[in-house]
Amino acid sequence: MNCIFCKIVKGEIPSSKIYEDDIVVAFNDIAPQAPIHILIIPKKHYSTILELEEDDKELIGYIFLVANKIAKDLDFHERGFRIVVNCNRDGGQTVFHVHFHLLAGRAMRWPPG
Ligand code: 5GP
Ligand code: ZN
Repeated sequence: MNCIFCKIVKGEIPSSKIYEDDIVVAFNDIAPQAPIHILIIPKKHYSTILELEEDDKELIGYIFLVANKIAKDLDFHERGFRIVVNCNRDGGQTVFHVHFHLLAGRAMRWPPG
């Protein structure tokens, strides 16, 4: 499988890591859409959120706790932030390894484009 985010997990291609543990890794997006644009990914490969199953409920909750921790550690929690998950073509997904965009550092617009 030729997955760029699995390669980042394995350290086969470089990334600017913000956080890492046994379950997830968070790193700066290569093309940031906000002053802070971090991707939080499970180390386990899932192509899209459609592959998540009952056993993965805890993992998804955990990713939100990691986002919470990063927001507080980097001190943008009070100003606020946005978490985005894109799925398949209409969702705008381009990398098929589940990832959560954590965006901050500017006021977000609504509706998203
Ligand atoms: P998607 O459009 O699938 O929701 O988001 C994929 C994100 O991955 C994009 O924001 C894109 O800039 C980012 N990205 C793609 N390739 C790389 C890479 O090699 N390194 C990093 N750090 N980010 C990447
Ligand atoms: Zn992968």
